[in-house]
Amino acid sequence: MKKKKVIVIGAGFSGISTATALANLGYEVQVLEKNAEPGGRARVFREGGFVFDMGPSWYWMPDIFEIYFSKFGKKPSDYYELKRLDPSYSVILSDSEVIDIPADMEGIKALFESYEEGASAQLDKFLKQAAYKYRVGIQDFVWRPSVKITEFLSLKLLVDAIRMDVFSSFYKHIRKFFKSETILKLMEFPILFLGAISQNTPAMYSLMNFAEITLGTWYPMGGMHQIVNGMVALAEEKQVKFTYNAEVKGFEIVNKHVRAVKTAKGLIEADMVVASADYHWVEQLLGDDFRNYSEEYWDKRVMAPSSLLFYLGISKRLPKLKHHNLFFDRDFSVHSHEIYTDPSWPSEPLFYASAPSVTDPSVAPEGCENLFLLIPIAPNLEDTEAHREKYFLQLMDRLEAYCGENIRDFIVYKRSYAHQDFMSDYHAFKGNAYGLANTLFQTAILKPSLKNKKLDNLYYTGQLTVPGPGVPPSLISGLVVANEVDKSLRK
Ligand SMILES: Cc1cc2nc3c(=O)[nH]c(=O)nc-3n(C[C@H](O)[C@H](O)[C@H](O)COP(=O)(O)OP(=O)(O)OC[C@H]3O[C@@H](n4cnc5c(N)ncnc54)[C@H](O)[C@@H]3O)c2cc1C
Repeated sequence: MKKKKVIVIGAGFSGISTATALANLGYEVQVLEKNAEPGGRARVFREGGFVFDMGPSWYWMPDIFEIYFSKFGKKPSDYYELKRLDPSYSVILSDSEVIDIPADMEGIKALFESYEEGASAQLDKFLKQAAYKYRVGIQDFVWRPSVKITEFLSLKLLVDAIRMDVFSSFYKHIRKFFKSETILKLMEFPILFLGAISQNTPAMYSLMNFAEITLGTWYPMGGMHQIVNGMVALAEEKQVKFTYNAEVKGFEIVNKHVRAVKTAKGLIEADMVVASADYHWVEQLLGDDFRNYSEEYWDKRVMAPSSLLFYLGISKRLPKLKHHNLFFDRDFSVHSHEIYTDPSWPSEPLFYASAPSVTDPSVAPEGCENLFLLIPIAPNLEDTEAHREKYFLQLMDRLEAYCGENIRDFIVYKRSYAHQDFMSDYHAFKGNAYGLANTLFQTAILKPSLKNKKLDNLYYTGQLTVPGPGVPPSLISGLVVANEVDKSLRK
């Protein structure tokens, strides 16, 4: 019997995940990717001996990667070598106050106790609850496709939701355990990954602290793109066909059914289409008759921040830097106001510096440092060369002051990246970097649906639908959608 054909739009984590799962179930799968290589926001580029990961740099929740590969009888170690980082990361509170977060629990407890008497016992209590949330969240909630409210109507789930603290804020929750401003800062950091401030983030996301503190911070040797390479190799083992430089420009729709997708080279027919490209862009391609949500709906979404990024090749080592360095040396309330409340270019931003060459000599020439700088910024800002350069100079001043040495004269490669690039490379709505913020009203059933409600064979996956932004959620999203697609194709 002829295999049913599925087209997946986009070769980011979610697209590769869904494609692999569907091919594993026996479908013929073709991935159409606009860019020349896979990875989406996690692509890589090489320049002058430097290897730059373009997006993600934190490998958290190693168990999700294990689950992903195990679905296909594999392990992450079949494709890449992981190293646990110790310290997990460094937090720079001022030039003179720097906290290295130890990888081991005893070290973390001693650190907490040094800031607040009794804090190590409080950490135990906090993590016990967070472990429960992680278990229920990761084993249950994130695997729900969230297409029907009935998925959530059970007494057990309601009890779980209350125990999970779905309805209170992380901000209030964490303050029940700790008073020290420094500890609060450290504990609120993982929440930033969810794209919202702690006041607007459900307390259930203390599961992120469990992930960070208990499961650890890891790094795939060679760089984060090794995950992509591994996933593509696995997909190809399952006969997924990848076609690059193949942007989907529209759909041929007959009787509420997508008959084919349109590319520059012509129509490609399919029984089913899964769009992992930015949701809003796909909606635009569908037009008013077939999109799920109006422009007004999208305009009201709370987006996670965009980013201003710098990829720098430095012709010397910078011994003061660790692999991950968080510059929390300015007032976060001012910066977060400039991201969420009054979207504008920040006055004095917090920023993040990653130097993977501290762990991995393969990502920089000998004696050099590979440096990735990231400032979270509001989406949809005017993005000009002048803006970028202004922040580059600010960051250089602060980095040089911290490192105690000249850096800018040793820059042998420099590339910046912001809204305009996110839009032109990925069709990112408002130049977003990480999709939608994980606020209460943008959780589960309240996220953009993974199913098109007007067409019988179009699904969505990726960071703008369930379960949300980040590499592990994108892997899960792909698997959840593959399951829904399979059910639909078997009907
Ligand atoms: C700077 C940055 C840092 C990050 N840091 C981390 C981190 O440390 N840890 C973490 O877990 N997560 C991190 N994230 C988030 C994580 O990278 C994303 O959530 C994840 O990669 C999203 O995967 P995706 O498949 O949903 O989307 P994408 O990666 O965007 O994939 C979508 C793909 O669709 C393609 N496409 C778009 N339009 C079309 C079209 N019309 N036709 C064909 N193809 C199309 C795009 O080119 C792209 O390849 C970071 C993201 C960024 C941007």
